[in-house]
Amino acid sequence: MTTQLDFTARKIAILGGGPGGYEAAMVAASLGADVTIVERDGLGGSAVLTDVVPSKTLIATADVMTRFASASSLVLTSETTGSPRWLI
Ligand SMILES: Cc1cc2nc3c(=O)[nH]c(=O)nc-3n(C[C@H](O)[C@H](O)[C@H](O)COP(=O)(O)OP(=O)(O)OC[C@H]3O[C@@H](n4cnc5c(N)ncnc54)[C@H](O)[C@@H]3O)c2cc1C
Repeated sequence: MTTQLDFTARKIAILGGGPGGYEAAMVAASLGADVTIVERDGLGGSAVLTDVVPSKTLIATADVMTRFASASSLVLTSETTGSPRWLI
């Protein structure tokens, strides 16, 4: 028994709405396909939900905290409440 693949089919289902899935979906759609994305968590995939974006937020936050840790050498202090206060 042989299986014939129908390469003219215009309906495509893509499993996963991460960068791989949505890029594939956009290319397929641009070629005229009727695309369905199956996603269990949310469009954007790990990149948006857990990896790329959240990690950049953590890195940026750590960078600010690291810079601020040495702020006293610039005579910059802050109180636990309120905005940073320049003492110059
Ligand atoms: C900490 C960290 C930082 C990163 N930073 C960067 C960066 O700065 N730049 C960069 O280019 N890359 C970065 N990456 C890599 C990037 O996150 C991955 O390369 C990218 O997410 C892979 O995309 P993907 O579509 O293959 O998989 P995923 O993003 O994992 O998407 C797969 C999707 O499929 C869904 N899925 C899986 N199984 C099913 C199922 N059975 N039913 C329904 N849905 C399902 C999942 O819910 C998920 O949304 C980083 C990774 C990590 C861990």
